Amino acid sequence: SQATVHGLLERNARKYLTEEAFVTPTSRLSYSQVNAFANQIAHYLKNSGVGSGERILILSRNNEQFLFSFFGVLKIGAIVAPINTRLTKEELVQVLMNIGAVGILYEASFSTMIHELNHAISTIWMHCIQNILQFQHHLPTSNLDLPIRAEDPCEILFTSGTTGTPKAVLFSHDRLRNLAAAICVEFHITRSDKLLTLMPLTHSAPLNCFFLSGIYAGSSHVIADFSPQLFLQSIQSEHSTITFAAPIGYILAAKELNVQSYDLSSVRVFAYGGGSLASTAYIQIKSAFQSDRFYQVYGLTEAGPNGSFLSPDEHLAKAGSIGKHPTLNMELRVVRDDGTDVSSGERGEIILAGDTLMLGYYHALHGISEVTDHGWLKTGDIAYRDEEGYVFIVDRKKDIIISGGVNIYPREIEEVLSSHPAVTEACVVDVPNDEWGETVKAVVVLNKSVTEQELRTHVASLLADYKCPRIYQFVPELPRNANGKVLKNDLKK
Ligand code: ATP
Repeated sequence: SQATVHGLLERNARKYLTEEAFVTPTSRLSYSQVNAFANQIAHYLKNSGVGSGERILILSRNNEQFLFSFFGVLKIGAIVAPINTRLTKEELVQVLMNIGAVGILYEASFSTMIHELNHAISTIWMHCIQNILQFQHHLPTSNLDLPIRAEDPCEILFTSGTTGTPKAVLFSHDRLRNLAAAICVEFHITRSDKLLTLMPLTHSAPLNCFFLSGIYAGSSHVIADFSPQLFLQSIQSEHSTITFAAPIGYILAAKELNVQSYDLSSVRVFAYGGGSLASTAYIQIKSAFQSDRFYQVYGLTEAGPNGSFLSPDEHLAKAGSIGKHPTLNMELRVVRDDGTDVSSGERGEIILAGDTLMLGYYHALHGISEVTDHGWLKTGDIAYRDEEGYVFIVDRKKDIIISGGVNIYPREIEEVLSSHPAVTEACVVDVPNDEWGETVKAVVVLNKSVTEQELRTHVASLLADYKCPRIYQFVPELPRNANGKVLKNDLKK
């Protein structure tokens, strides 16, 4: 199983022995220690009769329990499904049924939730990770060496659910390794890097893109749950070199803290992605962080995530673009409905192809549904290329508002609203309207007081009348999921 994801951990354990490699909220561990605990979990699962290809859910925040159970499940050839820890009991049951999971490994702090789940669904085993390690310390710490192939399925991740129910995305070992290798090349990730991962490891960008790239390269890691303060503090105390966060992570740090009082000079890559960052917000963040080492990454769970990125030197002239070149292993095109490439300035849909794409969506009843067309994945992202080939996302297909038969792109309106100095962020959604079919509503977070009329005047000076929001709502913050994505469906309700 050399060509597997857990094979990377086992290799690092042999090569780097007891050197410190992981800093978690409660411990400092080497690659060989993490590997030994993961082996104990794997032996336990194997003794319990878990077979290869079976799905096991992990309910854990960013800590060592996550590491042990994630790799432990992989080591027996089962499929690991880390899930969003903020899901309700009902949502968890839904997820369990959808992927036909046989069991859950959970960290002790979720005992109450597990207790309730047990009442609702008794056919699935649920084991506490800490208990396994504490009470079964006689379990072997040696590697299992089962015949697991590179092309075997190994991981299910769920999309953010921004546009509906989260979809279960299935990956194999080789696709994840291809992704890790590509990201290592693009971001020059090496063994001397120290990755800071505070975004939930249940989501594809922090887990597959950055964390696993660090495992691929043998780098060291700091993992914990995000808070703006911990983010800045960890960089300073652990001398992090690479970090990834959703745009809101940087926005909150810049808003709530005196960023300049922290020493962030060790960081060579501040990556952000998963959503757009309005150019005004980018300028504010850049000045708060006094750094021009920001990389924007674009991708979606179904692609690894993999897609394209915008490097720091491109930010100056092309802020707001997702870049010009797709990442290594990827091809990116913007196409018309008939599949032909758009000309510059013309809108079309982004499609992606490459060896980091998912195997398909997974469902317990329907199996794997492959959704690519001759290897090309439709992203649902509407975009155009400028004269120089830089790609700009206009909006997601599903977010487009059709009012009086005309297409309105919320993202354009959000950018205009955010360009007002009193606006921290804005989200534009459609609400049903008898006359127009759908009408535009703006939900706005302010950082200083401003009247609705002032905002209306600002927007009217920059946008055609039919795009101007009819309804304004002011809120202290936007509803977000664990990955920092705005829950547009909640705002529509
Ligand atoms: P669901 O498919 O369940 O609605 P989701 O698509 O939000 O969820 P993700 O895979 O987390 O789930 O998000 C991918 C989407 O996020 C992309 O298709 C794109 O719309 C958006 N996105 C990702 N990166 C960027 C970026 N750098 N700039 C703008 N949008 C981005």
